[in-house]
Amino acid sequence: MRHAELVRALEAVEGPARPRADLEQVVTPPEVAAELLFAAERWDGLGGRSVLDLGAGTGRLAIGAALLGATPVVAVELDPELAERGRAAAARAGLEVEFVVGDVRAWDRAAEVVLMNPPFGAQRRGADRPFWDRALALASRSVHAFALADSRTFIAGRVVARGAQILETQPVAWRLPRTFPHHRRRAVMLPVDRWAVRTEDDP
Ligand code: SAH
Repeated sequence: MRHAELVRALEAVEGPARPRADLEQVVTPPEVAAELLFAAERWDGLGGRSVLDLGAGTGRLAIGAALLGATPVVAVELDPELAERGRAAAARAGLEVEFVVGDVRAWDRAAEVVLMNPPFGAQRRGADRPFWDRALALASRSVHAFALADSRTFIAGRVVARGAQILETQPVAWRLPRTFPHHRRRAVMLPVDRWAVRTEDDP
């Protein structure tokens, strides 16, 4: 699948109708989501791989992975409204993605590849930490995820503690349009990294 084609398909997966600030419901911009998905494809070849999307929202990453041939794809999201929106988007695209309403902190079903755009911890410091702990524990092969540049030291420490290996830490151009009532400006650029982490010794 070409980049432009994937971006178009991801644009069709709408974000939340009324995003909740307390859960940091920020939808991944299509271009940025495509960048993560193609990185996962380059490192791991998603075809036939099991994928887990933690904090899946309306499922841009999960649905994108299914489009690139990943199977089975499981998407875990706390907010039932978003999970339902994701389910509908996957059905419209004719893709099989299992959306589960649940708390990532209690999730224990593993997968080869974990993808995530978790809460960044901008509202509640450290909100991304349990996500990284779960992702690193549950991925048998790799983790591909976004994080604020602030979290670099924390993430690198967790990766080392897990005996995993950082493949890439790549700054991305993340434009956040006004999303929550406390946002004053029309849009801001966020200092976000895309991470690729190898959790398996000999893939
Ligand atoms: N991955 C989506 C949404 C990212 S926003 C996308 O890329 O578009 C982060 C998501 O994590 C929100 O949808 C929020 O509701 C969800 N979330 C926050 N805390 C959670 C938790 N403890 N368990 C599961 N989902 C959670």
